Amino acid sequence: MKFDELDISSKLNRKILDLGFYVLTPIQDKCIPEIIKGRDIVGQSKTGSGKTFAFAIPIIDKVQNGKGIQAVILTPTRELCVQITQVFRELGSIFDLKVASVFGGVRIEPQINSLQNSEIVVGTPGRMLDHIGRNTIDFRSMRFLVIDEIDKLFEMGFIEDVEEIISYVPRDRQTLMFSATMQNDLLRIMSKHLKNPLIVSVDSYLETSKLKQLYYDIYNKKNKFSLLVHLIRKNYKGMSIVFCSTRNQVDLVARNLKNQGLRACAIHGGMTQKKRLSSLDLLQKQNTDILVATDVAARGLDIKNVTHIYNYDVPKTSQEYIHRVGRTARAGENGNAITLLTKPDHDNFRNVQSNDNLEIHRANMPNFKSLPFIIRRPYSKNKNFR
Ligand code: ADP
Ligand code: MG
Repeated sequence: MKFDELDISSKLNRKILDLGFYVLTPIQDKCIPEIIKGRDIVGQSKTGSGKTFAFAIPIIDKVQNGKGIQAVILTPTRELCVQITQVFRELGSIFDLKVASVFGGVRIEPQINSLQNSEIVVGTPGRMLDHIGRNTIDFRSMRFLVIDEIDKLFEMGFIEDVEEIISYVPRDRQTLMFSATMQNDLLRIMSKHLKNPLIVSVDSYLETSKLKQLYYDIYNKKNKFSLLVHLIRKNYKGMSIVFCSTRNQVDLVARNLKNQGLRACAIHGGMTQKKRLSSLDLLQKQNTDILVATDVAARGLDIKNVTHIYNYDVPKTSQEYIHRVGRTARAGENGNAITLLTKPDHDNFRNVQSNDNLEIHRANMPNFKSLPFIIRRPYSKNKNFR
């Protein structure tokens, strides 16, 4: 279906075309007409398949300027909160809709002000509850509740917070839940908050025709970083994402890549809000080529032109592997997923490979230069040493 076939205002339609979008993605195709009709939805499709527009377009079409908070979007991380806010602000600008962004790690006062005269609120559960506790958010006009990345909210232990928030919002509302995976136990928990929902599931498998998946079996653990640098240098083109399993590892790998003169930046949940946003800013301005990330921090982020995914640490499950490598080979482009294996990774890798949909081929070990991987923290400047 094309956007101009949707039953939405012509002004909104023009805006979508101006932004360069013509054809709906499958999840949008299935969800938007039903949301317009007023139906509750549970929508599942992989990362990067256009879920944000699937709920933003019908909401923007229905929300009215100056009539109080009419839509609330809950999302697991601050970064997603910022990204979704941007989408709503862009689309909502044509109707002068105001969008409040509510997340932790920053001062609460400016948020209180913007909540006074917004029609749409995008927030993380913790800060949202904070506002509820302070009585600084008024849900009386609310018609739409969106829970985005509900699988992630669940994994991060936020479901109780989400349910508490639901207990404060009007019963008479439309509820839309979106997720990259479909988990039956989660569906069971959430079904009491939904009214006769339409459950839409769009391909959870990987589009593999444009994706090349390789693994390197590294005998000596010390060579892992050297091989990574070698491959990054050889494949130098678009954006790369290097996934690590811990925050500490993310910091170390990012710092060592920088020591090699590569433009890398780190993102993980242990960083300050300011640092995380500045990493995202570098990305958006294309002032970096390599994002080193944990799964949680990278989840759901929309990063363009990713040509290579490196699994520096192997994910524990095939589901997580699919999430990671689904960041490349998007929108018909070619992509590469490269997994670096050392002995401790083999158990996890067997898990990943047990998924028959995945075809990961063994690559021949190239010749590469041996590089240092420095583990100690950099010396602080005011320390004297001889
Ligand atoms: P998801 O939430 O499913 O991970 P996003 O909503 O973040 O995906 O969208 C991923 C990317 O796809 C964004 O850059 C968005 O602008 C783009 N996109 C969304 N809808 C369309 C469409 N109909 N046609 C082309 N690109 C689209
Ligand atoms: Mg999303």
